[in-house]
Amino acid sequence: MNFNSALENIKSYEAGKPIELVVREYGIDKDHIVKLASNENPFGCSPKVKEAVRNIIDNMSLYPDDSMVKLKNALGDKYGINLDEMVIGAGSDQVIEFAIHAKAHNGSKVLMNSVTFAMYEIYAKQVGAVIVRTASTQHDMDEFYALYQEHKPSIIFLCTPNNPTGDAIEAESMLSFIEKIDSNTLVIVDGAYMEYARFKDPSKAVDPKSLVQKFDNVLFLGTFSKAYGLGGMRVGYGIAQSHIIKALYKVRPPFNITTLSLEAASVALEDEAFVNECIADNFSQMKRYEAFAEAKEIEIIDSYTNFVTLSLSKEKNSSQIAQALLKKGMIIRDLSSYGLNAIRVTIGTEVQNSRFFELAEPLL
Ligand SMILES: *Cc1c(COP(=O)(O)O)cnc(C)c1O
Repeated sequence: MNFNSALENIKSYEAGKPIELVVREYGIDKDHIVKLASNENPFGCSPKVKEAVRNIIDNMSLYPDDSMVKLKNALGDKYGINLDEMVIGAGSDQVIEFAIHAKAHNGSKVLMNSVTFAMYEIYAKQVGAVIVRTASTQHDMDEFYALYQEHKPSIIFLCTPNNPTGDAIEAESMLSFIEKIDSNTLVIVDGAYMEYARFKDPSKAVDPKSLVQKFDNVLFLGTFSKAYGLGGMRVGYGIAQSHIIKALYKVRPPFNITTLSLEAASVALEDEAFVNECIADNFSQMKRYEAFAEAKEIEIIDSYTNFVTLSLSKEKNSSQIAQALLKKGMIIRDLSSYGLNAIRVTIGTEVQNSRFFELAEPLL
């Protein structure tokens, strides 16, 4: 059967291996598997969220509130933005899909960093768009600007902090870059890890409200999957001026967020203290990874996220190391598909991290 020819050069997204699969493939007991592969919060979500979801468990027969007013009010309060300046997606992934489908078409150009979140390319190729990438692996605003002038892309992705490398753009240099971009080019600032960057170094953090006030062509993305510990609930959001949000709504399927997910995300915003404690723990555990890398003389990228990226020397092979760790029940991310001889490790709990060091020590 023939399919849309645009699909021919798309490789399906490869998610971090789920624990269930490792149990089946390697016969390892579920309790002995540690997953540090998808940048989830190892402490999960606030206990208040669990209680709130339990309390509405009988509400599953009715369709969800498609106006999403509770969550939108909570986000509006958090960021100081209006309800018509946001759209909620099943993960911010879905908002990326909305944005690309609303803005790009066959032959449009989409500019992104050489190494960045894989879904930008996948959604862009679905509409037949052409991918333009930088040469440098860390966001270089001068190179972005030169490529912008050369290609006149319809969408520019800035992922800060960037996945899978963990580095972040100086907010000031990003803002002066965006000022030079014409208003018909959509600039998407993916802030999936912005909570972490803001904690570690405010000069790397951008505030969605100031972006929306200043620019009529910027879409900011946030998610509940990382710092808020709700990866399984699939909730993310986009913040932009209302004319952009209106366009995104035209490609949104109805009832795209479940009742339980809407409740979970709304209540998660009521317990920022929980999230801040998790983030503080994250950066104190990160020091152990830095010490480990230093002791082993492995290059570690300065990270503003909840993961670290270890660049391996030529003598080591990231795929083999990821595979060897997997056999021992340690799931991490091999970055060879990004063209890097590197591994990405999500920072876990103290015990999980100790396990990683113990298993990785003889391999690295
Ligand atoms: C995890 C992640 C997302 C999206 O996560 P969702 O679970 O779909 O909200 C988006 N961008 C980056 C860079 C990410 O790492």
